[in-house]
Amino acid sequence: MPLDVCQLPLVGGHPALDLVNTLERGGESPHDFLTDSSALLRWSARVGVVTDAEVDQVGRAWRDEPAAAHAGLAAVRDIREGLHLVLLAAITDADCGTAGDPIAAGAALVALHQRWSGAAVRARFVLDSSQVRMVYGTVPAMLVPDRIAEAALDVMLTADLTRVRRCPVLEGGCGWLFLDQSRNGSRRWCRMADCGNAVKARRLTERRRAARPTNS
Ligand SMILES: [Zn+2]
Repeated sequence: MPLDVCQLPLVGGHPALDLVNTLERGGESPHDFLTDSSALLRWSARVGVVTDAEVDQVGRAWRDEPAAAHAGLAAVRDIREGLHLVLLAAITDADCGTAGDPIAAGAALVALHQRWSGAAVRARFVLDSSQVRMVYGTVPAMLVPDRIAEAALDVMLTADLTRVRRCPVLEGGCGWLFLDQSRNGSRRWCRMADCGNAVKARRLTERRRAARPTNS
């Protein structure tokens, strides 16, 4: 049985990257951990995109208007896909050299801009102790997709995209994306304790098997 979305390890280093990792793309049938709007809402609270008080507001709005819940989930999945394409195209790592598609990434940027524009229309400027902030998510039914659009914008414009890595699929890793925040930029695996060690163990078994005398 697949994990609940709230049991997924958060390895991205940014909520927008953790969002990208909520879709398991490997294997024959991809698995989407954002199974429904309720899973999306729980995950959003877990990564801090919405507060507990906002969870109640959104929950009420989505119960009153199920179509808005479906639209919210669809919008988030759309942002997730667009961001994945953009980040793959930005990754310069050798393993991902062929993974990024600049044309798909260009189209994804247009779609992401549209999502963000909608979120910006619903946002408000707020004066907060001598500082003006832009607050996204003033409409409860659209709060979650608007905050996700904000997070996507934040990672695209403020993160160092040369530090985005993909857990190396060609070497047996899982393909999750993460921001490498190690000092020398040498992090290779999403989690050493998981993918890194699993691949090492597999290699060791292969080496032992190769070293074993054959009885042919
Ligand atoms: Zn991995």
